[in-house]
Amino acid sequence: MRDRLRLAPGLPEARNTPGTGDDARPVAPATGVTWDLSDLFDGPGDPRIAVALDSIDEDAKGFAARFRGTIHVAGGPPAAWFREGIESLEAIHERQWRIGGYAHLNYDQDTRDVVARDLSQRVEERLTAARNELLFFDLEWMEVADEDAATLVADPELSAYRHFLEAQRLFRPHRLSEAEERLANEKDITGNSAWARLHTETTSALEFDVDRDGATERLNLSRVLAMLHDPDRTVRRSGHDALYATLARSGPVLTYTYDTLVQDKRTMDRLRGHPDPMASRHLGNEIPSAAVESMMQAVEGAYPVAQAYFRLKARLLGLPELMVYDQYAPLEQRQVAVPWSDARTLVEESYAAIDPAFGDVAREVFARNWVDAEPRDGKRGGAYCSYPTPKLHPWILCNYMGTPRDVMTVAHEMGHALHAMLGRRQTPFNYHSTLPLAETASVFGEMVVFDRLLARETDPRARLGLLAGKIEDAFATVFRQNVLTRFEQSAFAARAEGRLTGDRLGDLWTAANRAYYGDAVRLTDGYRWGWSYIPHFIHTPFYCYAYVFGQLLVMSLYRTYKETGGAFVPKFLDLLAAGGSGTPDTLLRPLGVDITHPSFWAKGLAEIEALVAQATDLAEALGDA
Ligand SMILES: [Zn+2]
Repeated sequence: MRDRLRLAPGLPEARNTPGTGDDARPVAPATGVTWDLSDLFDGPGDPRIAVALDSIDEDAKGFAARFRGTIHVAGGPPAAWFREGIESLEAIHERQWRIGGYAHLNYDQDTRDVVARDLSQRVEERLTAARNELLFFDLEWMEVADEDAATLVADPELSAYRHFLEAQRLFRPHRLSEAEERLANEKDITGNSAWARLHTETTSALEFDVDRDGATERLNLSRVLAMLHDPDRTVRRSGHDALYATLARSGPVLTYTYDTLVQDKRTMDRLRGHPDPMASRHLGNEIPSAAVESMMQAVEGAYPVAQAYFRLKARLLGLPELMVYDQYAPLEQRQVAVPWSDARTLVEESYAAIDPAFGDVAREVFARNWVDAEPRDGKRGGAYCSYPTPKLHPWILCNYMGTPRDVMTVAHEMGHALHAMLGRRQTPFNYHSTLPLAETASVFGEMVVFDRLLARETDPRARLGLLAGKIEDAFATVFRQNVLTRFEQSAFAARAEGRLTGDRLGDLWTAANRAYYGDAVRLTDGYRWGWSYIPHFIHTPFYCYAYVFGQLLVMSLYRTYKETGGAFVPKFLDLLAAGGSGTPDTLLRPLGVDITHPSFWAKGLAEIEALVAQATDLAEALGDA
């Protein structure tokens, strides 16, 4: 996800469709809008940095000397002592996240800076060493007998940490003995981690030969993927052809790698006693598997909505049928650049319209220079919001060029900042939301800002372009991620019957996609290799459904907000202020949400359907459809 260092675990991969052909568009870069990191340290030369680095080791050693061997004791530790341990650990993490956060933000603002790179590496090494030193505490807690653990969890002394403690123990029944865990870890280095590295190295070394104006150009993966977003169909098609020709040539190694990883996971799941391939992911997400299945079926029920949109898109592009390489073609080229000051006002006003307190946060984030929006050489690309600890405040990084998409990115990251600010009354371990809830404020804020942006756009063609962008983003996050998850399920099921071949995986991939595209989008032969370069399948199996969950949850909440307005807002505020202090289910109940019920998901999907209907009406009024 966004980062190891407790950045907002976001949905960037699903949102950031590569290179949306911004080249020809007017730009208004946010020049001069940089952040102020002095709340952390005065600069790379600040003497407090050396002190902070030294204290990382001392802290960890001191903690271990005090608490090691005192948690896994007969009858469990005394509740007050255990609480002292948790609070001390939180305080240590607080200090670690401060120096870690600084090293990271400082590096991202100029990744070419040697001093910054050096600091970030030193911090990472020290933090890893400290983490190993501190690990015993969690492990000892896992060792405490169930009965004693239940008594502790119920103790009023520990009530603030109830969810935190319970979540940690969810994995207890699936643990192996210490010797086995250690053996598995060591073998993983030359086992599944090695296979995953092989996949990364293979896909990043791929070269794609593309014909352009009679000459052959050699591109890497991200540049060839960007061609699929080109307004010129010839460019899209040659990008598509080059992509799949090269993937097919690497097919044997990509297939063998994936087959091995699937079987490796099946083996570990069997040894750990997980009932199905998704079960371990559900435990981490704290979501019951029935809710996920109910969600996925609801999404499948809405595939015809997507197909209707694809037919509309074919008509708008003047094509007899939409080929798979046409689906990301931009609909509207004429865009007016949005200056930074305008984006800032729009975001502030949109947040204030939900609740004055939300507007106050947005204004503060901008006014106190917690945003680095200026595009610069050497600065890290993309966007994120970092909120290391509740004692600090959030920082937003983005590369603002003035497209409507950039405005939406600022709106999105501001939602994370809001979530972070509202959750500050939580302790560090209760601060960060679980993955499925991590995008609640960000996607919600995006919806509100989008509606404003759309409302003030008077040119109908530009409106259609905005709507299409929103719809296609939602498709990428909801429908496509659902397809990816179904593919993974089918690959694991097929592996139970024998080795996976390129042919078999191609069939499974086509079947999962065919359900989505129906007869509205024509797939190509080459597309059978579409599964082979997706990093989630390799590094984080069954990760993708969290994207679907996050997006649909918010669309559904947004619909409730539009229906009930004022009554909804205080509950929404409570949800955000709760941070990560409960499971998704318990935190969502007060909002009347039942994630196990299909009707809940239908509500979010209806919001997507409404967007498609709006685009269709607009196209008809323009006489384009
Ligand atoms: Zn996000």
